[in-house]
Amino acid sequence: MKCIFCKSDTSTSKSVEHIIPESLGNKKNILPKGVVCDNCNNYFGKKIEKYVLEMPYFKSLRGRLKIENKKGKIPRVSGFTINKDFIEIDFLKYGDNRIEVIYKDDQSLMSLLSSNKLYVPLIPEPPLNNVHVSKFIGLIAFEALAQRVSLIEDWQNDFVDNSSLDELRNFVRFGKGYSIWPYHIRRIDGENQIKYCKVSNKYLETLNEYDFLIPDISTIEGETHKVDNLYFVMAIMGIEYTINLTNAGLNRYFTWLSENQNRSILQMEKSEFHSNINL
Ligand SMILES: [Zn+2]
Repeated sequence: MKCIFCKSDTSTSKSVEHIIPESLGNKKNILPKGVVCDNCNNYFGKKIEKYVLEMPYFKSLRGRLKIENKKGKIPRVSGFTINKDFIEIDFLKYGDNRIEVIYKDDQSLMSLLSSNKLYVPLIPEPPLNNVHVSKFIGLIAFEALAQRVSLIEDWQNDFVDNSSLDELRNFVRFGKGYSIWPYHIRRIDGENQIKYCKVSNKYLETLNEYDFLIPDISTIEGETHKVDNLYFVMAIMGIEYTINLTNAGLNRYFTWLSENQNRSILQMEKSEFHSNINL
C-alpha cells in the first residue's frame, strides 16, 4: 500500500492517523495503519497540529471546554489581574467550573486578592489567512475524504493516483504551490451544543461533525467523472470551516451559500444538498 500523501510504501508503517486530533476530543475516528506513513504522521503532528492546537483560540477553547489531550491534560490558559500582572489558570477536570490559579509572585497574588478580579481573554474564533490553519483544515479534509471513499474495495491506489487531489496534497504535506490555501470560517452554533442524535436516540454533545458538498453535478470527460468543486465542511465546537479539495477557490461556495440562505449543510438534511462522492 502507498501513503495517501507522499505515496511511499507503507507496509512497515505503524501509526494510525486521527482524522481530527485527539486533543480536540477525537478518540475513535481514525484511518488504520498503512493509510498514512509514519513520516507523514509525524510531520502532521509536529508541523501542523501542534502549531494550531497551541494557538490562543484553540488553547483557550480546549481549556474552557475541558478537552483533555492524549495525556489526559487540559491546557493552562493565560489571564491577568487588574494591575495587568500575568496569571495562569487551570480549569479543573472535576467539579463545576472550578479553577486553580497559578501565580508567579506575591505581587500578582496581592493584586488578585485586593481587587478580587481575574481577567481571562475569550478568543472567539481562530485566525483567518493563517498558513497553519489552512494546512490543518486541508489535512482533515483530505483524510476525511480518504475515509469516505475507503468503503470501496482497492480504493487506496485510485486515491493515490487521483491527480485532481495533487494540489491540495502537495500544499498540505510539502507546503508547495500556495502560501495559503483559502478557507472560510463562521460561527454556526454555540460552543457547547447538546443535540438529539437519531441514530443512538440520545442527546449528545457535538464536538465535531463534517460532510462534503458538491454544488454542481459532475461532468463526464471520456471515462472520468470530473468534479469542479468538492467542498469539505466541518464544524468544531460551533465554528464552521470550509475548504475546497479540488482547487484553491471558494467562489462557488459563496454563491451556493447565497442560493441557500446562508445555511450550513451540517444543519440540513442530506437530501437537501448534493453530497454523493463519485471521484
Ligand atoms: Zn507519507
